[in-house]
Order: sequence, then structure tokens, then C-alpha cells
Amino acid sequence: MPSHQKGEGHVAVDPDKLSSIPSAAAKTSEPNRNKSYDPKKTHITETPLTRRNWYKHVNWLNVVLILGIPLTGVVTALWTPLRLPTFILAVIYYFWTGLGITAGYHRLWAHTSYCATVPLQLFLAAAGAGAVEGSVRWWARDHRAHHRYTDTDKDPYSVRKGLLYSHFGWMIMKQNPKRIGRTDISDLNDSWVVKTQHKHYLKWVVFFGLAFPSLIAGLGWGDWLGGFIYAGILRIFFVQQATFCVNSLAHWLGDQPFDDRNSPRDHVITALVTLGEGYHNFHHEFPSDYRNAIEWHQYDPTKWSIWMWKQLGLAYDLKQFRSNEIEKGRVQQLQKKLDQKRARLDWGVPLEQLPVMEWDDYVDQCKNGRELIAVAGVVHDATDFVKDHPGGKAMIRSGLGKDATAMFNGGVYLHSNAAHNLLSTMRIGVIRGGCEVEIWKRAQRENKDIVIKDEAGNRIVRAGNQVTKVVEPPASAGAA
Ligand SMILES: [Zn+2]
Ligand SMILES: [Zn+2]
Repeated sequence: MPSHQKGEGHVAVDPDKLSSIPSAAAKTSEPNRNKSYDPKKTHITETPLTRRNWYKHVNWLNVVLILGIPLTGVVTALWTPLRLPTFILAVIYYFWTGLGITAGYHRLWAHTSYCATVPLQLFLAAAGAGAVEGSVRWWARDHRAHHRYTDTDKDPYSVRKGLLYSHFGWMIMKQNPKRIGRTDISDLNDSWVVKTQHKHYLKWVVFFGLAFPSLIAGLGWGDWLGGFIYAGILRIFFVQQATFCVNSLAHWLGDQPFDDRNSPRDHVITALVTLGEGYHNFHHEFPSDYRNAIEWHQYDPTKWSIWMWKQLGLAYDLKQFRSNEIEKGRVQQLQKKLDQKRARLDWGVPLEQLPVMEWDDYVDQCKNGRELIAVAGVVHDATDFVKDHPGGKAMIRSGLGKDATAMFNGGVYLHSNAAHNLLSTMRIGVIRGGCEVEIWKRAQRENKDIVIKDEAGNRIVRAGNQVTKVVEPPASAGAA
């Protein structure tokens, strides 16, 4: 028989039901609920996977439920004709059961992002059971652990262990129950809908997963087998694979507009596959928001359904973060990207790292043929630039060896922002007692934004705030 361990991931069978199975494996898992649990005994996941023991690492029950049954469905489908009404039923039931997971298991129970009346709760619990992904209680507990411990070893389906692992590997291979992060599900334990579904989970699965669609197709248009195969088994397979994408694809494909320190990502493809759960970077930042997509044009049928239920009086207290909070996250992430981009650019040697030169030394070096130019107390080596100077060689040469502050800042020509930026890349020193220091100090006194730094400590030089930019330059020899 397939071995099962209480508290492990399995998609169809009630953990409590299975704990009563008198198998050796069933006695070795959940510490708190199983009296025969022996913490000293090594869990199979604590032994390395070898050629001899690999089959002990596999959760065979889930292999049958996730792969075996669908495969049987595909084979049987080969000689079961697909009738149009059965196909339509399968598609509708796919959306229903999918919503049971996304709007029910996920947004209602795991995140309490809205409140539902009892009829809606019953509908969602039944529809979710029809998707055959475990009970609300089990699913929501793991999902809360996933949010709390995202990408760590305590995350039940961490994408850091590989895309396939996060998709269904975590269910196909046994998991050590001691490893999964603990979370509080006391609110779920207080809900009689959740408790009832958990208690009778196996019956609910058989009825809503297979019997109900077979009954509709059978009583409706006499297609009992078609209903069973297409709206039952194969539809379960597609719903499972689609919703598993929230754990895999949504942590692998797309952008990170709100925070890039963890794996969740936003992508329209994931949204299309998962009934709108594809805006996962947003979701991990604002998990109790009933929306996943915040723009009207983004695909989020789960959000639309919840909103519609609200209009019908079935749902209420829809939680939504203020757009002010959402925009703050977006701006911070943009700022981070901008900082990284700025850090890759050449802004010249930072002023504090430049050597200090005496004025006479600067003048002497120029007399000896070096093409140096001082602007606002900063000395620049223009040797490689003189021939390229847009204003001509003669014009720039007239400032060599002098204080060219005023010339550069309008005395001769009011240089552009780009010119100040380019000039900064030619810095080689600062003049002792030069006006650079004075400007600097004055700016500090006037609280100007000249020396603000990003979080990596890189100086941010705003356009027009370069140290060589002087609004009212002192008259200098060059400008006179
Ligand atoms: Zn996630
Ligand atoms: Zn979530």
C-alpha cells in the first residue's frame, strides 16, 4: 500500500483519516498529534537518497493521485468520445473548482482577504474539494508557512529547490513535517465549514471531484463515462497543474515591481494559467489584499468573482491596501533599480578621494605642457579632450592654467548639464583653499542636496547640482 505520513503534503486524502492507517510510516511523523511519534527516530528525509532507498523517499499515494489517475484518464479518453455538452461542462467545472482554490482556499481562508457568508463558504469549500488539492485546513496551513518562510528551508514549496520541486516535487517526494515552518491556523479551527470539510474530506473529494460532474453529464445528456473522464479526472488534472503554477511559475517567471529580495514575480502568463494569481510579487507584498491584479486591464477573474459576490451580498469586508502604500513599495523598488544603474556609471573620482594640489603647482604643470583646467576648485585633465571640445581647441586652451569657473559657467559659455557630467570624469585633484571647498561648505550650510548618497553609499549627483556648476561665479582672471 502507498505509505503515508501524517502532516505531509498529499493532495487528496484527509491527514486525520490516514493517520489511522496502521502502517509503520504513519507512526513516524507529526509530533504534536500522534502519540506514537518518536522524535529520536530518523525521518526518511534525513537519510540521503540512494539507489537502494529512493522508493522510500517517494510519496506513492501522491504519485497515484497527481500522475497515475490523470494518466489513466488520458488512456481511457482515447476510446471515450468527447461530446460537446460534456466539454462545456468540463470547462465550466474547471473554472468553478479553480475558483474554489483561488478565491476560497487562497484568498478567503489562507489570507482572510474578505469575509464570505455561509452559503458562499460552502460553495467554495465544495468547489475546492472538487479540485482535489487537500482540505482547506491542510492547504491554508502550508500556504501560510509559504508566505511566512518564503524561499527558506521552512517554505514547504520553496522554488530555491528547483522549479519542478515547487510545482509538484514537494508532494511527490516525502517531506519532513518537522521542517515545515509553523503557523497559526486557530481561526480556521474555529470555522465549522473548514472543520466539516476537513473531517469529511474524502467523501467530499469523491463526490465533488468525480461523482458530481458524472451525475450532471449522465442525468443531463446520458454521458456518464464522458462526465467521469473529462469533467472529472482530466479536469482535475488540469486544475491541479494550473494551480500548482502559483507555487512554481509565479516564483520564476516575470518582473518584481515591488520587492526583488525574494522570488515572487508578476507575469501575465501565470495570471492566465492561474485564474489571476499571476501578480505574485504584489501578492507576497500585500497578501491580505483581495486583489492580485491592481490594474483594471490585468487578468484576475478571481478578483472579479469576489467583487461580483459582494454585489450579490455573498461577500463583504473586501480588504484593499491604500494605493499610497502600494506606490511606496513600487517607488522604493524603482529607486533600487535606479541606484544600481547609477552605480554602473562613471561619475569621476569622488572629490574626497582626489589629491590636494597647490595653486602654483597647478599653474606650473600647465606651463610644462599639461592640459589642465580648474573649475570651481577642481582640477581636470583635459589632454584627451581638447581636440574634441565642441567649442573648439582655442577656446578650451584659453582656460588652461587659470581658474575657469566663470568661463565655464557662463562667462564665455554657459555649459550644459552634460558638459558638467563629462567634466567630472576628468577630475584629477582639488586646489588647496580653492573655491570647491567654499562652495561645498556653503551648500552644506544652505542645506542643498549636493552630497546625498544612495543606500550603497554612492553619491547622487542631480542634474544641475554638480560641484562645477556655479550659479553666480566669482569674477576670475579668465573671465575678465
Ligand atoms: Zn508564493
Ligand atoms: Zn498567498
